[in-house]
Amino acid sequence: MNRDQNLKAVRGRTDPWDVVVIGGGATGAGCALDAASRGFSVLLLEQHDFGKGTSSRSTKLIHGGVRYLRQGNISLVREALRERGLLLKNAPHAVTKQAFVVPCYGRFEKAFYGLGMKIYDRLSGSLSIGDSRLLTREETLEHLPTLKFEGLRGGVLYHDGQFDDARFLIDLLCTADLLGAVVLNYCKAASLINNRDRRVNGLEFVDAETGERIAVNSRSVINATGVFSDSVRQMSDPQAKPLLTFSQGIHIVLDRRFLPVGDALMIPKTSDGRVLFCIPWHGRLLVGTTDTLIDAADLEPAALASEIDFVLDTAGNYLAGKPTRADILSVFAGMRPLLRSNVRTRTSSLSRGHDLFVDRSGLITITGGKWTTYRRMAEDAVDKAIQVGGLKKIESGTGFLPIQPPEKPNHDIKLHPNFPYTREDVINAVRNEMARTVEDVLARRTRVLFLDAKAAIESARTVAEIIAAELRRDDGWKNEQVRDFEQVAKSYQLDQPANNANRRE
Ligand SMILES: Cc1cc2nc3c(=O)[nH]c(=O)nc-3n(C[C@H](O)[C@H](O)[C@H](O)COP(=O)(O)OP(=O)(O)OC[C@H]3O[C@@H](n4cnc5c(N)ncnc54)[C@H](O)[C@@H]3O)c2cc1C
Repeated sequence: MNRDQNLKAVRGRTDPWDVVVIGGGATGAGCALDAASRGFSVLLLEQHDFGKGTSSRSTKLIHGGVRYLRQGNISLVREALRERGLLLKNAPHAVTKQAFVVPCYGRFEKAFYGLGMKIYDRLSGSLSIGDSRLLTREETLEHLPTLKFEGLRGGVLYHDGQFDDARFLIDLLCTADLLGAVVLNYCKAASLINNRDRRVNGLEFVDAETGERIAVNSRSVINATGVFSDSVRQMSDPQAKPLLTFSQGIHIVLDRRFLPVGDALMIPKTSDGRVLFCIPWHGRLLVGTTDTLIDAADLEPAALASEIDFVLDTAGNYLAGKPTRADILSVFAGMRPLLRSNVRTRTSSLSRGHDLFVDRSGLITITGGKWTTYRRMAEDAVDKAIQVGGLKKIESGTGFLPIQPPEKPNHDIKLHPNFPYTREDVINAVRNEMARTVEDVLARRTRVLFLDAKAAIESARTVAEIIAAELRRDDGWKNEQVRDFEQVAKSYQLDQPANNANRRE
């Protein structure tokens, strides 16, 4: 992917695009890939970096959702399990099988969760990735040796998929790019263009690097901006009633010593009725998540002190070594769009956990869902674009479309002693993956910021030097990049008392 070439392609185009997608998260990337693979001309615009929003802040699971099973939402679980199976086939380099253990302390828990996981197995049908089974107390402790053993009666073992969200997003975009999609980061859709009939037929976007404003025509526009969907809808119709409210979920990252095995721990019922995961990820332990109502959409949401305490306390109830704030290597928050309670019955046209709306202007908005179901969401959105934009009827083939693995550069000098990432990875990220800033490299092309905020800050200067050499930037740019990155990274760190005090509550 080459940003300069893509900008040139956009400037040089006089024909309308078949599809313009706003938003470079899982949903938008899925739409771009689906549309390009059907042979449509497609442009994708992301206001910041690809994956800056929720799509880099997930629990990293490709799953049916055990929680939805408990809620009795069978059709959603079945659909997500099907998507899980397709992803394991189409992207085996990125999505891997992960074993989970549900520890059982109560008298009937083992039978209850054992039966639940059997239903989960059955719902995956021919795309099953391994049978669940009951574990004795001793077997449970073999799988999770650092589990609290007082009162433990046994456990249930089951399997789900795991991935690196922001990295997989780049794979999706690279695959879309290979199929002819034009994708641009740091390009914000600033206004929609309506024709005389008040139908949206294009938009203007701003290149954040130069301030240039560029207008494009399009037969259809898909709004895949997650928690920002309402603001884009209101560009075409300022009177459009908001569809969304927001909740956020946080994760903390700990050293692997708290669970030094390959298996993950699934805590089936927290005090707020959710599930909590402790999952091995890139040599660390990822623990989360929460569900906290939030007033406004935010591109860099901050974890609340109460959420951090909740995650620490809940994990501490199950792990023999109780983690404390001092053990947190990184903390990050992500936001979910939730449909307002009066909206679902009024306008929602789909009930598969995601929602598709077409405004009076013809603007298509796709929101909700899960990372796991991005492909299905994209298929629905592009089907709608065909209808709204009068495009040729071509079926989606993404169910059987392999996703390109990234090119692995030769590894040379490490960026930081605690991480495998190298200088070559940075160069590759700039040359082939459209990384433009220190944050792009340390947060999303590599995951250092999410894994260890202190190590990320320590790597910032080196990364700035490498990017500057690639993009021909001066010393002033390097200094500004390091400063900006340190500012962002502060909210991922807990070991500075000042930051704790600043954390929103
Ligand atoms: C805490 C948490 C954990 C989760 N864990 C899982 C999980 O383990 N598995 C799973 O399957 N799902 C999970 N999910 C759900 C999943 O992460 C989301 O469904 C998915 O990432 C949403 O992707 P999206 O593209 O719709 O939104 P986003 O990723 O938020 O992307 C929207 C993009 O639009 C951009 N944008 C906004 N306005 C404009 C504009 N004007 N111009 C251009 N671009 C714009 C934003 O910058 C943003 O990058 C989780 C969600 C949360 C909150």
